[in-house]
Amino acid sequence: MKVTIFGCGYVGLVTGACFAEVGNEVLCVDVDAARVERLNAGEVPIFEPGLEDLVHRNTAAGRLAFTTDPAEAVAHGLFQMIAVGTPPDEDGSADLRHVLDVARTIGAHMDGYRVVVDKSTVPVGTADRVREAVAAELHRRGVQVEFDVVCNPEFLKEGEAVEDFMKPERIVVGADNPRTVELLKLLYAPFNRNHERMVIMDVRSAELTKYAANAMLATKISFMNEMANLAERLGADIEKVRVGIGSDSRIGYAFIYPGCGYGGSCFPKDVKALERMAAAAGYEARLLAAVEDVNRRQKEVLLRKMEAHYGDRLPGRTLALWGLSFKPGTDDIREAPSCVLIEGLLARGARVRAYDPKAMEAVRRRFGDRDGLELVPSPYEALEGADGLALVTEWKEFRSPDFDRIRELLGEPVIFDGRNVYDPDLLAAKGFAYYGIGRGRSV
Ligand code: NAD
Repeated sequence: MKVTIFGCGYVGLVTGACFAEVGNEVLCVDVDAARVERLNAGEVPIFEPGLEDLVHRNTAAGRLAFTTDPAEAVAHGLFQMIAVGTPPDEDGSADLRHVLDVARTIGAHMDGYRVVVDKSTVPVGTADRVREAVAAELHRRGVQVEFDVVCNPEFLKEGEAVEDFMKPERIVVGADNPRTVELLKLLYAPFNRNHERMVIMDVRSAELTKYAANAMLATKISFMNEMANLAERLGADIEKVRVGIGSDSRIGYAFIYPGCGYGGSCFPKDVKALERMAAAAGYEARLLAAVEDVNRRQKEVLLRKMEAHYGDRLPGRTLALWGLSFKPGTDDIREAPSCVLIEGLLARGARVRAYDPKAMEAVRRRFGDRDGLELVPSPYEALEGADGLALVTEWKEFRSPDFDRIRELLGEPVIFDGRNVYDPDLLAAKGFAYYGIGRGRSV
């Protein structure tokens, strides 16, 4: 089948490469000419495990191509997938500028039946706006061709995006006619083989499903962080509590890890956008506001612990940071807790030596050559001349480090563990001061 994908970001590129991998002819289009040029030169501009191989293999086989040409893109695919960004507007609601630009582009060039598939995360009612935008362009051109609009939200996780796309837990399709459902079934058949994963519903429910899923996950994290902060003040260990509640099958172990806050391009913006959507519908979404608020405070929790530990000595101290991406497995630093910590430390006159396996380039782009921030090529180099270590992102390579070497390199043996990866008793035995999240009396 022929598929066009608008947007060569985390979702668009993974979607395009995976559809090509199963035999489709995929054309990916982006307005970012430099990005398309890099892709055409064989360079994959984002890090996602397995993606580079997939892109190379499928471009070589002639099933995957990249362009900036909208006319060529619209002419190519029966399916016109929208996978462009929906960043937060000034008031937190989703900015639909890019989505509607694509809709107008499709309307401006299409000359035969097309299925417009919305993969971007968009507020309830957006499919109607996409339909109107396409129709307005067709009307302007005086052209009469049929098209359908489907909502097919994406649930892949950065860091495991290819795996998630290839083996989805569910494929949500919001459609308002049986013809599009049948076409989407055909398109997704290779990913839907051993049991039925397609969940078919009306368009508005599909649009809300994506926000509800992200808001539920964000709520789980903020809930655990609230419990962790409480555990700390009550002298309990949240890690014991986590196992204690996770063993209840109604709760489960997944996604109940306390830490220094959630980040990324989805949870923060989607919780805010859902809250705005509720407000626009005349409903005050109090839980969502609290989830967001708890997270904003949680991103400062390591800084507060450092202030408490170093007191007046914080200005002039150097902190080593391990992990900068918003979670392991990605180079994405959008809304990452690391960035809040770096800003906070620099603002207090402290210095930062930081290392991340994949996100250094993104941090360099964001902070430029800011005074006080040094990015170093290995975890142990970050410790040289530092007065303490903060683990911010739990990449596997940080899980079992050489603590004796850490102690030798650090000016002061202090570890701030933003992900509760280390054993407090072991670290105490090795002579470290240890600060976790919600672990006993380590406020
Ligand atoms: P991204 O910022 O990585 O990529 C978006 C791409 O779209 C960019 O390359 C941009 O240049 C391009 N673009 C913008 N306007 C365009 C236009 N008019 N025509 C063609 N290309 C255009 O974004 P992303 O992380 O891939 O997210 C895309 C959407 O998917 C968002 O709505 C997001 O909420 C949703 N989503 C993201 C994830 C994730 O983990 N990143 C997961 C599920 C859903």
